[in-house]
Amino acid sequence: MGKKFIADYYDHYKPFDQLTTIGLETQDQLELSQNWKYHVRIDRLSKNKEGVYYICDYKTNSQLKAQEELDQDRQLAMYSLWVRQRYPDAKDVKLMWFFLAFDQEMISERNTEQLQKLKLDTESLIKEIEACENFPTEVNSLCNWCVYKSMCPAWKHDVELEAKTPKQFKDDDGVKLVDELAKLDSEKKITEDRIYQIKEDLIKFAQQKDLSVVFGTDNKATVKPYDKIEYPKTEEFVELLKKKGLFEELAVLNYSKFLSKILKREVDTDVLREIKTEQGWMVRLGKRKE
Ligand code: SF4
Repeated sequence: MGKKFIADYYDHYKPFDQLTTIGLETQDQLELSQNWKYHVRIDRLSKNKEGVYYICDYKTNSQLKAQEELDQDRQLAMYSLWVRQRYPDAKDVKLMWFFLAFDQEMISERNTEQLQKLKLDTESLIKEIEACENFPTEVNSLCNWCVYKSMCPAWKHDVELEAKTPKQFKDDDGVKLVDELAKLDSEKKITEDRIYQIKEDLIKFAQQKDLSVVFGTDNKATVKPYDKIEYPKTEEFVELLKKKGLFEELAVLNYSKFLSKILKREVDTDVLREIKTEQGWMVRLGKRKE
């Protein structure tokens, strides 16, 4: 794909005389109010003969972005503030994306009012972030690029382990606990499967010998039939239960659905007031690469 992107790009733009490149992978900071700074790293900064500057961003996305999305893009628009400050000769500044997989360029433009508003919005976002004291982890595909990984509760143990020798790794208390839990969990699954199979075999054994109790050394197993009931899961059935006055008596609250509604704040405040919350802990086992 890389080869194809480069070949298509080359064929499209040779002999590359549309724009003059002024900078590649620029490294600078845009000064904001209160000494805040916005990191500026432009893939390629170019200008044409008329003095219009182009902030070029190269994308290998497998999906083309919609124009509306690009018109809302913060990053390149913020870079354009830096370009206007740094190059006062700029007649105009355009934001340009090259979608290499589609051999297509897309452009977005911003006026002074839009940029002023974006700057204020960004500053207020910085203020909000700096005032925040609670940063819940949000594990995602960009974690490997995150500068806080070594401090992050979701990763710092892994980062610590990377620095350990194989012996220190094996002796780590966390590694020992997780490995033992994983071993027991897999044994539990094997045991549960085996219990199910033995019960099936016992039923067959009892049926063949016409037994209702099968004896072992210290224990006995009672084997007896029961009626499996299948409840209709239709609205009509629920209506029937209601009509017969059974619904109120028999229906139970669906707690997992209720929890999801609470988390999404879709529950009336009067109901929320009745709910007490206390912190609990859960442990979920998963694969390292999950
Ligand atoms: S490493 Fe931690 S802090 Fe960084 S993005 Fe991932 S979850 Fe968030």
